[in-house]
Amino acid sequence: MTEDSRVLDARYYMPAFGRTMKIVRGAGSRVWDDQGREYIDCVAGIAVCSTGHCHPAVVDAICNQARQLIHCSNLYYVPNQAELAERLVEITGLSKAFFSNSGAEANEGAIKLARIRTGRKRFVAFVHGFHGRTCGSLAITHKPAIREPFEPLSPPCTFVDYGDLDALAEVVDKDTAGVFVEPIQGEAGVLIPPDGFFRGIRDICDDAGALMIVDEVQTGMGRTGKWLAIQHTGVTPDIVTLAKGLASGFPIGALVAREGLEFGRSEHGSTFAGGPLACAAALATIGVIEEILPDVPAKGERFMKGLSTHNPRGRGLMIGISVGERCPEVQNTCAENGVLVNCAADGNLRLIPPLVITDEEIDTAVGVINAALG
Ligand code: PLP
Repeated sequence: MTEDSRVLDARYYMPAFGRTMKIVRGAGSRVWDDQGREYIDCVAGIAVCSTGHCHPAVVDAICNQARQLIHCSNLYYVPNQAELAERLVEITGLSKAFFSNSGAEANEGAIKLARIRTGRKRFVAFVHGFHGRTCGSLAITHKPAIREPFEPLSPPCTFVDYGDLDALAEVVDKDTAGVFVEPIQGEAGVLIPPDGFFRGIRDICDDAGALMIVDEVQTGMGRTGKWLAIQHTGVTPDIVTLAKGLASGFPIGALVAREGLEFGRSEHGSTFAGGPLACAAALATIGVIEEILPDVPAKGERFMKGLSTHNPRGRGLMIGISVGERCPEVQNTCAENGVLVNCAADGNLRLIPPLVITDEEIDTAVGVINAALG
C-alpha cells in the first residue's frame, strides 16, 4: 500500500480493521494491489464475490440499470424487485421475500418478523455463531469479546453448544420466538455440525411453536454446491436470511419466509433496501450462479484433495483448516506468494474463493497454501 493511502487511512478512518494491502482491481478470481502485484483471491470479499470480480454480466446489469433509474423509493413498485423476490422464492422453496442492505440487517428483519408473528420475545442461538454487528444481530452473536462491550442488548438470547440437541431441547420453550442457526459456522472457522442436527432443530422448534431461522448469509447462493447449505439436509426452515454472495458485491440482504410469515403494512421498511441497482446486480448474479453451480462440488473436492495432508473440512467452496497460532503467519506467507486466504476465529484458515475459480487456479492456490502450511 502506498505511503499516502496509509497516512490518510490512519488520519481519517476509524481503526476498526487490521489492514495491510490496498486492492485496486479485480477480474474473475484474481485481484491486483496498488503495487501491481497479482493474487488468486481465496477470500472473495469474505464469500461475497461469488461470480468473481467484475463479472461482465453483473457489470452490464448494474450499468444498464444505472442509466435507467438508480433509486426511487419503496413507496413505489421498484424495478427488478418483485422479479428478484420471485427468484429467491424459487431458490428457497419458501413463500415471500423482504430485502435489506446487509446480512446483519436481514437478521434484524428476521428477529422482528419472528417476534411479531409469534408474539414471543426470546431467542436461542449457538456458541461460536455469528449473525452480525448491529445491536439486534449482535445480541444473537455468541463471541463474548465483540458482544459484551455493547450490552445490554436486545433481544434476550440463550446460547447452546453447536450440535447439542439435548441442550437445545432444554432451553427452547413456549417463550422462544426463534432459533437462529448457521448451516456451517463461517466466522468460527468453517465448523460443520453432526448429521441429524438440523432435523433435530426442526423437531424441537415444531414442538415448542418456535421458528427455525437459518442464517445463510455466508453459506447461501451456491457457496456449498447447492443454492442453500440447508438443502443438503432436506430440512425446510421457517425463515432464511441471505446477503454476501447474493449480488456479487453490490450491497443487499434478504429474508425469505414460509407461507403465512410476512410483514404487514408499516411493520418493517428501509429507504435503500431492494433498490433497482441492487436487484439488477442480484438477478444477474443468480443467472451466472445458475450456470456454474453444477461445477462447485467438484471444484471443492479438488481443493480439499489438494490440501488433504492438512485435514481440511468443508462443503463445496467453503473450506476450513485448523492451523492454530501460526494462522496469521500462514496468511501472510500465502499473500507474499500470490494467494489471499483468511484467518477466521481460533486459528482456523478459511478458504472461500469465487465460485468461478478455475481448476488451474485451484491447483496454484493449493501449492502455495501447502507450502505455507509446511
Ligand atoms: N451472518 C453470517 C453467517 C455472517 O457470516 C455475517 C458476516 O460475516 C453476517 C451475518 C453479517 O453480515 P453483514 O456483515 O453483511 O452485516
